[in-house]
This record gives sequence, structure tokens and C-alpha cells, in this order.
Amino acid sequence: MRTLITAALACLVGLPAAAQPTPDWKAVEAETLRHFQALIRMDTTDPPGNEAPAADYIRQVFAKEGIPTQVFALEKHRPNVVARLKGSGRKRPLLIMAHTDTVNVDPKKWTHPPFSADREGGWVYGRGTVDDKDNVAAAMMVMLLLKRQQVPLDRDVIFLAESGEEGTVRVGIKFMVDSHYAEIDAEYCFAEGGGGTRQNGKVKFVSVQTLEKIPRAIELTARGVAGHGSVPLKTNPLSHLAKAVDRVVEWQPPITINETTGTYFKRLAALSSPEDAKRYRDVLSPDPSVSGPADEYFREHEPFHASVLRTSLSPTIIQAGYRVNVIPSEAKATIDVRVHPDEDAEKVLEQVRKVVNDPAVEVAWAPRDVRPHGTTRLNTEAFQVLEAAVTKHYSVPTLPLMSTGATDMAYLRAKGMQCYGIGPALDLEDGAKGFSAHSDQERILEEELLRFVRFNYDIVADVAKAK
Ligand SMILES: [Zn+2]
Repeated sequence: MRTLITAALACLVGLPAAAQPTPDWKAVEAETLRHFQALIRMDTTDPPGNEAPAADYIRQVFAKEGIPTQVFALEKHRPNVVARLKGSGRKRPLLIMAHTDTVNVDPKKWTHPPFSADREGGWVYGRGTVDDKDNVAAAMMVMLLLKRQQVPLDRDVIFLAESGEEGTVRVGIKFMVDSHYAEIDAEYCFAEGGGGTRQNGKVKFVSVQTLEKIPRAIELTARGVAGHGSVPLKTNPLSHLAKAVDRVVEWQPPITINETTGTYFKRLAALSSPEDAKRYRDVLSPDPSVSGPADEYFREHEPFHASVLRTSLSPTIIQAGYRVNVIPSEAKATIDVRVHPDEDAEKVLEQVRKVVNDPAVEVAWAPRDVRPHGTTRLNTEAFQVLEAAVTKHYSVPTLPLMSTGATDMAYLRAKGMQCYGIGPALDLEDGAKGFSAHSDQERILEEELLRFVRFNYDIVADVAKAK
């Protein structure tokens, strides 16, 4: 209705059609699906990661609209695409970013083929539908709409379609930050990492990722003397390693709460049943006799929440032995460590040494892409805009989220950029059915993709437009 009235007013006062304040959302929906399906049909699985067709597609769509693009590629077939809508320069730019590569597929596991973009029963099927071609299509649409609506901007809006997120940051975000930072430098960034949580068809809350843990790897190496399996040895490295691994699993690093996680648990409590709410509040207590039982419950029933509270350690690889009758001289375990952003990684390593407490076991860092450290504040214009848009489009609270996994925003936060992870609403039940990011199959609810485009347009326009 509002669209009709504003369109009628525009006619009366003789505004050019292109300057209508409200986009024609019906037409936008059809166009969104067309671009989204085109992107899903391109195999950009990484490795090997051939993002060039997606980059070419975006460039063509933008060129038709008169939006110039630049391409930055460390490797020719792995391009990053940048486009910029100029603002008055009164405020620093806003970056909207998404990645064009996807994780791999096993086609045998798919009912609808992984690059079909089939639409059925309100869903669109295909690899990348929720990670991250939904964000690519939404960011594209936002650029097209800002241009068509001729929205006057105080900030430049910069679009970045990056490569390599799923495989190697070397060709993607790291390359852009190390070699072309001036092209993407901004005060704020919106990228993947958040989204609505739907249960029984209703959105319960929308999370906005504001922080993430820092991935590291620790290797435990137990050493002893090799010997014949028929003569048991006290120094058997397998025995020492097994005990060390068990101690690491049993160890619970202390709870650390920050602005993001404190706000998250408080707001989650307000949405939860009385039993759950009590635990979400209790865990924030500085008194261990109050937080302890809640923490214990999370370890058993809500492991994500147990991890959000602290540095976490999961042993993931064990290597030892090669013959049944040989006691090996060495055994190794690798531990996936997610360092809490408020903690010092070197102190964590020291603590692990104390926990293992065995001179026969060496505890050391193992190689891993070390992501830089950075933080995002909640008291910003961008976060206020996000909260207001969540209320407008979803009528639910916004939960700031510290993710346990890593995203490319880490590289931007380390530069001081305030980055917020967003995304469409997903059915909570769908993950258990085997349809989610990185699952055997992947799909998205069409209506949620389309709602996300409207939400995304509002937040970008609100943060960037001239006031
Ligand atoms: Zn992703």
C-alpha cells in the first residue's frame, strides 16, 4: 500500500520514476531469485576454488546498471570484485562483503543436484544457498537498488565479493587487506556470520556476529623408547599421550564474559523458559557456586554455550604406532584450540603445559593460519541501525554473538573496522535434517532470502544515506 501511495505522489509532483523512495519489491524479488539461481548454478567449490564465473557475472550485472567494478586477483581464476557507490564523503565508508566460493559437494548425497538451484516447496536447493551466495545476491541487490533509487549518500558504499574464504584466505581477504586495503577501507562492514533463528516456522531472535574466537592448534608429543610389544614399558608414549589428552578434555579454562557475551546471555534469558533463563543469568555471576552448575549443564546439553564462555580445546587427531608388535617411540595428538578473544594465547599454552603435567609429553603450538585479533563495539550507529531493522522486519530481539568459528571479518576487525555478521533467518530444525552450511545438502527458504534483501537494503541505506 505504501508503495502505491508514494508512487502516486511521485507522479503528482513529477519526480522521475528512478528516484522513487521505495523500491518496487515485487520486481526486486523476481530479480533477486534470478541472480541468486545464476550464482548457485556456478560451481565455485573450494578447493580448487574457481570464482571467476561468479565474478564475471557480478561485473556484467553491475556494468548494465552503470556501476563500475575493479578486479583484484592474486591468481587469475580467483578474482575479488570491488565496486563503489560514491557518497559525499561526510562520513567514512561502509563495506558490504560476501564470498563467492563454497565448500565441496558429494553429488550422490543430493536429492536436488548441488548446482541445480531447483525451487521446490518454498525452498531453493544448492551448494552456497546459505553460505554465502545468499549474502552475495543480497549485497548485489542492495548496490543495484541504491543506484536506481539514487539514494543520496554520506558514506561511500563499497561492495566486495571475495574469493578463497572456504579454502585459503591467501587469495581472498588476506590479499585484499595486505595489498589493496585502500580499496576496501571503511568504518563499518556487514558480512556473513549472523542471522535469524526460526523454530516452528517463527523467527525467535536475530543474531549479529560482533566477535569471534581465535583459532590455534596445539600439538602434544609423547616420547619414549621403542620396544617389543611383548615386553610392556612404563614409558609407552601411547599411555602418556592418552592421559595427557584426557586431562586436556577434562580441563575447563575459566569463564570470561565480555560486552558481547554478557549482552547475549542477558537477552537470551529474556526469551527463554524460566529454567533456561535462570541458567543464562546464573552463568554471568562472578560467584562460581552460582555460575558452576549452569556451566556444568551447558557442557552436557548446550556445548556451544560452554564454548562461548571460555577458551575451548578439542583433541581432533591422534597419530601413533604402525605395527601390532612394536611399541613406538613417539605419539602425537593435535588439539583444535579456540582462544577467547580476551585471553592471551601464550598464557593458554602455559596453562595446557601445567594441565598435562608430564615431562614425557611436549606441548607446543602447531602450524595454523593465525588470524589477527580485533573487536567490535555495540555502542555504534551501525549496531543501533541493525537493532531497529531487526525490530522492523522480524519483530524480535537482536542478540550480539561471539562465534566459536572464524570468519574473514577477523582481518578487517584487526584494522579497526567495526564488523557485523548478518544473514537470513534459517529453520533451526533444518540443520538436524542435514541441510545447512557445509552439510551434505544445503537449501534456503525463499521467503527468508527475500526478507533478508529488504532488511539488508534498509540497514545499508540507513547507515550510509545523507542525513
Ligand atoms: Zn561462509
